[in-house]
Amino acid sequence: MEMKKNDIFTVAIEDMSEDGAGIGKTDGYIWFIKDTVIGDVVEASVMKQKKQYGFARLVKILTPSLHRVEEPCPVAKRCGGCQLQAMDYEEQLRFKEWKVKNNLIRLGGISPETLSMEPIMGMDHPWRYRNKAQFPFGKSKDGRIITGFYAGRTHAIIEHEDCLLGVEENRRILEIIRDFMKEYGIEPYDEAEHRGLVRHALIRKGFRTGEIMVCLVINGKRLPEADILAERLQAVPGMTSFSFSVNKDRTNVIMGREIVNVAGPGFISDYIGDIRYQISPLSFYQVNPVQTEKLYRTALEYAGLTGNETVWDLYCGIGTISLFLAQKAKKVYGVEIIPQAIEDARRNAEINGLKNAEFFVGQAEEVLPEQYEKNHARADVIVVDPPRKGCDEKCLETIVKMEPQRVVYVSCDSATLARDVKYLAAHGYELKRVRCCDMFPWSGHVETVVLMSRVDQ
Ligand code: SAH
Repeated sequence: MEMKKNDIFTVAIEDMSEDGAGIGKTDGYIWFIKDTVIGDVVEASVMKQKKQYGFARLVKILTPSLHRVEEPCPVAKRCGGCQLQAMDYEEQLRFKEWKVKNNLIRLGGISPETLSMEPIMGMDHPWRYRNKAQFPFGKSKDGRIITGFYAGRTHAIIEHEDCLLGVEENRRILEIIRDFMKEYGIEPYDEAEHRGLVRHALIRKGFRTGEIMVCLVINGKRLPEADILAERLQAVPGMTSFSFSVNKDRTNVIMGREIVNVAGPGFISDYIGDIRYQISPLSFYQVNPVQTEKLYRTALEYAGLTGNETVWDLYCGIGTISLFLAQKAKKVYGVEIIPQAIEDARRNAEINGLKNAEFFVGQAEEVLPEQYEKNHARADVIVVDPPRKGCDEKCLETIVKMEPQRVVYVSCDSATLARDVKYLAAHGYELKRVRCCDMFPWSGHVETVVLMSRVDQ
């Protein structure tokens, strides 16, 4: 059926994309329709068509899905943060698990009969789980200083200070900063004109310690009356550290490279399990600490450590998984491409008195082959936690050559996970266990932990 722009059609939503758009089909042609939920039957109007698929706008819900719920957040549709607020949480979990299973079967070549998934780890309270938020500052049409979130795909600021994914303190902190700016005539940043001072407020909280850090990102070298703001922020319980970051570039990158500490030690601490981490404004740290702990415990369980093992943790970031494993292994080697992350990893090892963890800066696909060939590195267990694009084939090739008994794969993209599982399955490894973890409720993302064991042991 030929259709043109603004034509209206009826379609049943059967699937969902990574970014949470509903997917429906007319005569085999695929439509992406934002704000729809699997199970809805909707009327939609054509926006854009390509050869294989098109985009349409929701016009009317004819029959709502059984899993459709009222979005709890007033700006859910406009804000770029959440995609699945109209779907009940149980259904979200089912959908995420199904997606991973489907990819393992379809792209990973795993037979449906042998694939048994352990139940997905969801959250008991899937709100206010984020320990970090970055609020852009700007002005409303009538000239007020506002903060909130970027709309999906644009930099228009949606005024909203109490995001339901963030901590309750965010609201009070933003109010203090706004009042301070107003009182001292400090202008928010204007992106189009590259003028004004305050660009973003970064707020982080250690969930276990209660410590809070605020860092203002400014388009300038100094923040006037910074001490006064620091003092006012002290009114918020847990406030530990206040700094500003200098970012004078015309850029989408939020943080500047230079951090100027105003009050407090310049970092906060938090725990995952028994391991303490120091987090500074620029450190990477998982944003959902409650689920992170579940994810790492699963990885640790799958690693099956008894205390005698040599473990490699590839793509180790600040060494979070490495240090978790180091408590139960003889020796852990971590590999990570970002030098500052490795500095954090080494410091975190030291703070926790863990002497059996050693870290390398470099690409996993270079460091591992080099260590294997030159230094005859060996491993009982190899853990990988790669970015979305998955493992480089050179890395997988070396893993296979090293013949570890177990490979534990932590993944944030089930399509590349499935591709890599297929590779390992073709080279002497067998898929033993799979478990998903919901790190980002109300988004389309899902994390998965997989255990693969050597077949001939
Ligand atoms: N395991 C860590 C971080 C995982 S995120 C944690 O749980 O906190 C993936 C990490 O891989 C990032 O820190 C990224 O910088 C790193 N990375 C990306 N490409 C890499 C490569 N080719 N070799 C090694 N590390 C890489």
